[in-house]
Amino acid sequence: MTEIAPPDHPPHDAGGRYAGPITREEHEPAHWEKEADAIRILLADRKRHFFTTDESRRVQEGLDAPDYWAMPYYQRWILAFSSLLDTKGVIPEAEMQAEEARLRAAGLHRVEGAPAAHQHHDHDHEHDHDDHPYQQDDDATLEELPPLRLRGLAVRNLLLAKGIVTAEEIRTEIERMDSRGPHNGARVVARAWTDPGFAARLAADAGRTVGELGFSGGETVLTALFNTDRLHNLVVCTLCSCYPRSVLGRPPAWYKSRAYRARAVRDPRGVLAEFGTHLPDDVELRVHDSNAELRYMVIPARPAGTEDWSEEQLATLITRDSMIGVTPAKSP
Ligand code: FE
Repeated sequence: MTEIAPPDHPPHDAGGRYAGPITREEHEPAHWEKEADAIRILLADRKRHFFTTDESRRVQEGLDAPDYWAMPYYQRWILAFSSLLDTKGVIPEAEMQAEEARLRAAGLHRVEGAPAAHQHHDHDHEHDHDDHPYQQDDDATLEELPPLRLRGLAVRNLLLAKGIVTAEEIRTEIERMDSRGPHNGARVVARAWTDPGFAARLAADAGRTVGELGFSGGETVLTALFNTDRLHNLVVCTLCSCYPRSVLGRPPAWYKSRAYRARAVRDPRGVLAEFGTHLPDDVELRVHDSNAELRYMVIPARPAGTEDWSEEQLATLITRDSMIGVTPAKSP
């Protein structure tokens, strides 16, 4: 692995630009991250449509590259939607700053619409951290909270106060995203393995066809990429983090990393090898770069020795990583 160059190119231009290893550490998203995720989706949904994915990207890409890569992912999202709410005339910057000042003065994490909470370091009575989303995430006091986390709270408050989104909508959107995941994709793949008609429909129109299993194709074009013993597909978003979220939920952290975004297009076989996948030289490898309109999901090849398996049994072999294309399906 060559030495890591400092980021000297704009953040959206990460494809092919980096040689670092892919860190595969995962963390369960904290409540504030899920909330930022939900608010960003709600603000861009059909009902509100205050901005597009590309507009959100554009704000983030206005950061200097070192700041962009250093900033936690969902803080970048808060930066983007708060900035766009101001420029679109929905909530003026001055109102956000006033709400931040009010929160700072109150010294509380509590905001309207959140469960009743109390001073974080007031530990002289029993309490259950599970009831207090801002306290289970970390031990930061309001004063220590990174500015964009405070901004997130302020924006959330103002959106609720103005009736632009409701607490119920945020809760429902978080639950919807929590309920999605590789288990949904596994059902799609297992059906495709066992039902040639379904596979054909999936190949023709994945967004519509996942609806047969009760899943949403999302508001983007979803394409299913079928792996064979001659062809292997790999999915990336070099621009940011586009992912078939309507089926698979939130992407893993490594999928959003600079290393994966850069190297998936420059050294895809090396990336696969890092995931333990050694692709024979005579297997064609195609890398698919997602974007705000196009999402991809890999249908891994059905493992040998599963001829008699039921759809339910087959689903246990299908992993998230196999639907991104960094690994094959598990062998029986
Ligand atoms: Fe993206």
